[in-house]
Amino acid sequence: MSSNICPECNQEWNGWWCKPCNSKRLQNDFNNWTSGNDKIDKFIQDAQLNADVNWEAIEWIPYDRFKDVKQIGKGGFGTIHYARWIDGIREWDIENQHWKRWDGEVALKKFDNFVNFNNVLNEEIKLIKKS
Ligand SMILES: [Zn+2]
Repeated sequence: MSSNICPECNQEWNGWWCKPCNSKRLQNDFNNWTSGNDKIDKFIQDAQLNADVNWEAIEWIPYDRFKDVKQIGKGGFGTIHYARWIDGIREWDIENQHWKRWDGEVALKKFDNFVNFNNVLNEEIKLIKKS
């Protein structure tokens, strides 16, 4: 078993995700991305600052970072697409000082209209808090 102490800050960690170190790292990167919407930016930033594990550190992903996008469904408000997301945050590589990335399959939802955007965001927040 690996050490329970983060080699960077010498605080206790789970062996692969150090909340204080990664929170600081992600915060330093806030100026390097934007969704173009202040409310979305704030939502993502809060999630990154409070992430206890990598899958809670949600990211803004430019569309060109998705590969093999294809439509797989259609609903009342838009369409559902399959895609591969090639560089999600997995963990910090201390030795090489960069994020280790993962390659995974995701579902994208494309809305026909953006009318009820606030409701959509509130619904996502509720889902995240429930899980
Ligand atoms: Zn640390």
